[in-house]
Amino acid sequence: MPTQSHHSEIAIIGGGVIGLLCAWRLAQAGHAVTLFERGEPGQESSRAALGVLNPSTSGQTPFPYIHLSQASLALFPALVDELKDEVGIEVGLRDEGVLLVALDDDEAATLAEEMAYHDAAGIPVAHVSATELRQLEPAVSPAARGAMHFTSALRVDNIRLCHALALAAHKVGVQIVTGALVNSVQVSGGKVTGVQVGGRNHGAEKVIVAAGSWSGTIAGIDAPVRPIKGQGLLLKPSFAVAHVLESFAGYVTPGRDGHLLIGATVEDIGYDQRVTAAGMQKLLSDAMRLAPDLYNATLVRTWAGLRPCSVDGLPILGPVAGKNGLLMATAHFRNGILLAPITAQLVVDWVQGRTPALDVKPFAPDRF
Ligand SMILES: Cc1cc2nc3c(=O)[nH]c(=O)nc-3n(C[C@H](O)[C@H](O)[C@H](O)COP(=O)(O)OP(=O)(O)OC[C@H]3O[C@@H](n4cnc5c(N)ncnc54)[C@H](O)[C@@H]3O)c2cc1C
Repeated sequence: MPTQSHHSEIAIIGGGVIGLLCAWRLAQAGHAVTLFERGEPGQESSRAALGVLNPSTSGQTPFPYIHLSQASLALFPALVDELKDEVGIEVGLRDEGVLLVALDDDEAATLAEEMAYHDAAGIPVAHVSATELRQLEPAVSPAARGAMHFTSALRVDNIRLCHALALAAHKVGVQIVTGALVNSVQVSGGKVTGVQVGGRNHGAEKVIVAAGSWSGTIAGIDAPVRPIKGQGLLLKPSFAVAHVLESFAGYVTPGRDGHLLIGATVEDIGYDQRVTAAGMQKLLSDAMRLAPDLYNATLVRTWAGLRPCSVDGLPILGPVAGKNGLLMATAHFRNGILLAPITAQLVVDWVQGRTPALDVKPFAPDRF
């Protein structure tokens, strides 16, 4: 039998952006929190992301998801100010927005449809003519027919964000235990009693699962989450880009010191984190179609990460029926950086027994 080693009111599994922000907010609200991270915080999907914060819709997106995204976006400016005050880290919030560029006539027709359903969903967008686009972003291909400007979209440096969150959480008393793989969540009499970490029991009244793509691999957790691989790369061009540029194939995102983050592939191939020749070829050719002068940019870095995706593509959020004290905060798929602030707010509500103001039914863990 494993021995009982420690106890805390709340145990969080996973130190990505979701686990870190939940931990910080819970500790600020007066709870005793231990966060278990099998490696180091912020090194998995939350590091691989491009940091684009853009509530958008495919036209089929459920309204509660759009509302969740917009509510989370609205929390970012205050969050970054608070982090600057608390730990002195500037997480590089940019507000130029996203330009979704049409590169041929077919894409221009699709853009017109997209304008209509974004308007209907209440997501602020503006049409940008080809001439205006060239003035705004001279690096965009001369073939561009125009763009849709997501005027409220933001961009954050997600690597700095995770670093700042880990410092802020630590400062307010969160115990961050690194190199700590949680094997199982323990439940007795319909109630959570703790987690098992490397053969030792850690007692807890509440357990929050924020283990990203690995959330369904923990014994005692029934979460239909699978990894969707995304590859990215960093370029240093000789020209500047102000807005996040999006094509119908991928992103060119302004980062630190004139660098551009290029992403991302979407590959449903299991727990494979290799950077591949095919992935790089696709990213580079899509990016050069959007901004041809990238041809001569310096290739600085490549990476791959695993987005946590549920079977219906929506996040899994909230209390688990029949396991009192167990909360899910996972499966944020392509928008986990964007959705982190609202996820943490919801988790604090649930821990403190409040009913969230938003419609969260579509995200309930027992919907599958
Ligand atoms: C290429 C790419 C581009 C992206 N771009 C964007 C973007 O522009 N905007 C956006 O909003 N989102 C983006 N995303 C999605 C976003 O990165 C994810 O949705 C988000 O990072 C998920 O955060 P997380 O904390 O749930 O997962 P993770 O960051 O993966 O963290 C989970 C953590 O749990 C730990 N863990 C797992 N199992 C255990 C265990 N048993 N015990 C202890 N610890 C465990 C892991 O080590 C990891 O640190 C992108 C993702 C990729 C891959």
